[in-house]
Amino acid sequence: MTSNSTRKNIVSRAKRVVIKLGSYVLTTPSFKLDRKVFSDVIKSIAEARKKNIESVLVSSGAIASALGTLGLNERPKLLSQEQAAAAIGQISLMGLYSRLLGKFNINAAQILLTHSDLRNRQRFLNARHTLNSVLEYGAVPIINENDTTVVEEIRFGDNDYLSSLVTNLVQADLLIILTDIDGFYDKDPRKYDDAKFISLIEDIDSSIEKLALGTKSKIARGGMATKIKAAITAAHFGVPTIIANGKTKGNLSKILQGDDIGTLILPKQNKLTSRKHWIAFTLKPQGRITVDNGAKTAMLEKAKSLLPSGISAVAGDFDPGEPVSCCDEDGVEFARGLSAYSAEDIEKIKGANTSEIKKVLGYDRHPEIINRDNMVILRKP
Ligand code: GLU
Repeated sequence: MTSNSTRKNIVSRAKRVVIKLGSYVLTTPSFKLDRKVFSDVIKSIAEARKKNIESVLVSSGAIASALGTLGLNERPKLLSQEQAAAAIGQISLMGLYSRLLGKFNINAAQILLTHSDLRNRQRFLNARHTLNSVLEYGAVPIINENDTTVVEEIRFGDNDYLSSLVTNLVQADLLIILTDIDGFYDKDPRKYDDAKFISLIEDIDSSIEKLALGTKSKIARGGMATKIKAAITAAHFGVPTIIANGKTKGNLSKILQGDDIGTLILPKQNKLTSRKHWIAFTLKPQGRITVDNGAKTAMLEKAKSLLPSGISAVAGDFDPGEPVSCCDEDGVEFARGLSAYSAEDIEKIKGANTSEIKKVLGYDRHPEIINRDNMVILRKP
């Protein structure tokens, strides 16, 4: 199949699309909301709706637009000031979305999330139901991180990551990341004249992520590295990603018609279920379990649960039920899962047989440390 027919195929099947708009796309160089971009995006969304494509926006730009309003030329240094700027900018951002969508008789719905809203499975599912209801009402959900209340521990960090989690949350079939460059290059095109544009990435992995490192931006939290990471996360949910220039008029419309714009990143063949994807990508590992080679092979090749006998070390401070990374003896992470035991208890039973758990701990709630149903294999050797 040619790259072009792959695109047409993917886009023609997409019924629910997550569109992430970056701060640079939405603002002018003097940090004013860029009305031309907003109008173009909203027009494309309204057109897509006629073809029964639902759009879910993940929009940055709150802090950037507040810089213009407040006459600042860089992000404030103090967290409280940055949070205040987000509160000021968010309202202008939503005002503009609401006015422009209103011209097409479409309602805008503001959804502000923190990581703690999604790390509890019940709350994650509640958020999914709410978003589905917003879409059933025919409104366009516009999601941003709740920057005003967020602190480090409950932060997503950047909206690229948030957009990739939203693909699972709303069970989307395409992620479009609109940024201020044309897509993915093998080197930073702003620094290297010989940088080569890549229009199709068939098998995304950490080698691509390495190429994207070092492209951080000044006003937004992300750079190309966070976009590639987001694409990897979406790919594990079976969702393709298109990274493209959101400043170029008509790009979003063309993408939604299946035109060859930006970089298309194909999804993984083995799609994770929503719950397993949530374990692996929405949750943040609270510790690390080192697994010996025998147990690693059993997990990778026979999809076995992790028993205490296969554990050689444990690091971190976690309680039962919390997410952990599983690393091999070389420190390479190959799986994630929910641990049935705390780090403190694993320290006492590591290397032991399952039958010894009760003798050592005085209880043996579970025969395994990580049951296979709570385990996600991230990479096979
Ligand atoms: N949530 C931030 C804002 O609206 C942007 C985060 C990011 O740049 O990824 O300003």
